[in-house]
Amino acid sequence: MGYEDWHTHNSLCKHAIGTIEDYVKRAIELDLNVIGISDHFPYEYLISEIPSLDQIPYERYAMTLNDVDGYIKQLEQLRAKYQGQIKLRFAFEIDYFKNQNQVLNQYLKNYIGKLDYIYGSVHVLFGKVGIFAFDDGRFLNKYEEYDVNDEVYLEFYTTLQDMIKSPTFELDIVTHFDLPKKFDIRVKDKDKVMEKVIETLELVKKHDLTVEINTSGLRKEVKEQYPSEEIIGEMYGLDIPILLSSDAHQPKEIAYKFKETTNLLKRVGYNQLAHFDKRKRSYIDI
Ligand SMILES: [Zn+2]
Ligand SMILES: [Zn+2]
Repeated sequence: MGYEDWHTHNSLCKHAIGTIEDYVKRAIELDLNVIGISDHFPYEYLISEIPSLDQIPYERYAMTLNDVDGYIKQLEQLRAKYQGQIKLRFAFEIDYFKNQNQVLNQYLKNYIGKLDYIYGSVHVLFGKVGIFAFDDGRFLNKYEEYDVNDEVYLEFYTTLQDMIKSPTFELDIVTHFDLPKKFDIRVKDKDKVMEKVIETLELVKKHDLTVEINTSGLRKEVKEQYPSEEIIGEMYGLDIPILLSSDAHQPKEIAYKFKETTNLLKRVGYNQLAHFDKRKRSYIDI
């Protein structure tokens, strides 16, 4: 089958390498059916709202507001150039920040009509230890300020739930559903965390959202896709739609371990993956 990879970045965000076209060309080489370009939406608009943001290197987490017009224009050019060879889908991966949707939407409104889907993400917590970019290896020492790692997971799922429930935060797909495990930081009270996971999945279902199966975890210390097979099993039980993503930050990572991961999904019971076009969901068989 022609795979569909819905999560890729590029040099605009300053921590990925390769131009958007490099990713498109690699996807064509791999005979993919879809390449989703889903670079990080700017954080810059937040700086006047959240002064503590300057404690994290947010300028290297995303493109600038000045880049956004060019990003969309480039996507339109590439879609036309490679028409007939691959389906190019336009997206942003947008971080959720509590109480910031109004200002976010002021910027997003000019582009939202062009998007095929929106990824909703949580990479930054505002909890017990203040601002915490918990998936940035430069801040690993912050985990020590918590009594147990479980607290990071619980803060993460609380934030994810806020995002899902928020009536003003636009999203179609929830990203890397168990991201705090990235550095192989495991929990103590697994049942308690799992209870919160299930509560979050029930909200995903209620809001009719999709969850990505993100293979980038297989390239990290944890050596496992996001989310775990156990969580995927719970998702299957709730009939939550899924799709595949590599979260590529280099062209060579496109469709990373998709064959093995598809086998895992089939083993759990899934036989369909979601597909997005102008924010409408349909399904393909696997
Ligand atoms: Zn990134
Ligand atoms: Zn991410």
